Amino acid sequence: MQWPPKQREVCVKASNFSEGDEEPMDPVRKDEFDSGACGSLAPKVRPCPRPKPGEAAGGCSFDGAQITLLPIMDAAHLVHGPIACAGNSWESRGTLSSGPSLSQYGFATDLTDSDIIFGGEKKLKDSIDYIAERFAPPAIFVYSTCVTALIGEDMDAVCKTAAERLGIPVIPVNSPGFVGSKNLGNRLAGDALLQYVIGTGEPSPDMSMGINLIGEYNIAGEMWDIEKLMNSAGIPVTSRITGDARYKEIAWAHRARVNMVVCSRALLGLAREMESRYGIPYFEGSFYGAKETTYSLRQMAYLMNDRDMERRVDRLTEREEARLSQDLRPYRKILKGKKAVLYTGGVKSWSVISALKELGVQVVGVGTNKSTEDDVRRIADRVSDDTEYIPEGGASRILKTVRERKADIMIAGGRNMYVAMKEQIPFIDINQERHKAYAGYEGLLRLAKELTYSLANPIWKLAASPAPWDKEAPPYDR
Ligand code: SF4
Repeated sequence: MQWPPKQREVCVKASNFSEGDEEPMDPVRKDEFDSGACGSLAPKVRPCPRPKPGEAAGGCSFDGAQITLLPIMDAAHLVHGPIACAGNSWESRGTLSSGPSLSQYGFATDLTDSDIIFGGEKKLKDSIDYIAERFAPPAIFVYSTCVTALIGEDMDAVCKTAAERLGIPVIPVNSPGFVGSKNLGNRLAGDALLQYVIGTGEPSPDMSMGINLIGEYNIAGEMWDIEKLMNSAGIPVTSRITGDARYKEIAWAHRARVNMVVCSRALLGLAREMESRYGIPYFEGSFYGAKETTYSLRQMAYLMNDRDMERRVDRLTEREEARLSQDLRPYRKILKGKKAVLYTGGVKSWSVISALKELGVQVVGVGTNKSTEDDVRRIADRVSDDTEYIPEGGASRILKTVRERKADIMIAGGRNMYVAMKEQIPFIDINQERHKAYAGYEGLLRLAKELTYSLANPIWKLAASPAPWDKEAPPYDR
């Protein structure tokens, strides 16, 4: 069966979906999960849990699809659904652009009750026409939501007709929120790129082909730090999938010589499919921590099969590591032996541990609620045996671990910031809302600085001391 299926197939089949392991699962969803919605390397091992009640609280599939595609900065992104779906996720991420800003416009068809009764396809068509005429984008991505999937909008047909009428790609992204988790949405967005974008364009003949960076979203400008390193080593970037990307570079991604899957197991399926369709080898890597960065750069040069490039990478990594080691010296003195609870999702749950270990920080508790079995195995390789795993439970379970393990700092996503503040312990934001770039050698130095600043901030001592009015006993006690 073709994937992604038509809009109606998603909504009808997903409605048969059951949480229990024993109950039958429809073939479309079963394929998706068995082949690794979270990107397992072992296709027959179910790598990520089936959707559970409340799972969308950490971001629904629609949200996951947007995370993957919104960094295509010059494209328009139109949400077909109620305004709240677009509003909830709009501008909440720190993905940056070096030029166009069209993707930051919050386009939505804003369906009302009468559209739900009489259908919203006319509104969708008018919205696409308006965006094409007013903004002339190179492409328009159209996202389904729970509402439009449930009322059976034929989004694929509207997009197809609009693409023919307007002469630009109008791409349906069939990832309504109820089908599952954010990870599944990442993968469905990757499928949309495979089906509608990759292979539809050609680079100019004078461009040298190199690496596709898959799953790097340029949070807080991390992509720019990585590109700077690659440029220094003379490693060409062919396509950024999708941090700070332009539509045309995704269209020619099939001409790359190597795919690197950067911290995104959900997009491993994309790399695997590109290997089988276009013969592009891929590897998984991370840029969190000096060791991982060096490994990733070396792996790129090795797979490019270019001896000169390998020598340049060796020289660059030696130089950068030596410089970093000097710069980190004062921070390592402060950070050595500090205990941290790390609560983040998927690949970051293990890749950030490597970076923290290089700084001398001990991870005493780690969240695994969005991790695959493979992620958990990699965590286990990097932490000590007595590290606490936090599979679920949210804020109360994190707090319990912080208290029991006497952690010095909490490293988590923005939504746990107030948990740390109420507990009066230092905190840094590691998720996609963050404003600091932690990738590469420069990123590790920034991470060391942020950890140190947060730990050394006098506010924690002040907050733990009694309020001035509590220091004096009230008159009636004297
Ligand atoms: S797509 Fe569905 S789950 Fe996601 S925000 Fe919209 S209504 Fe909520």
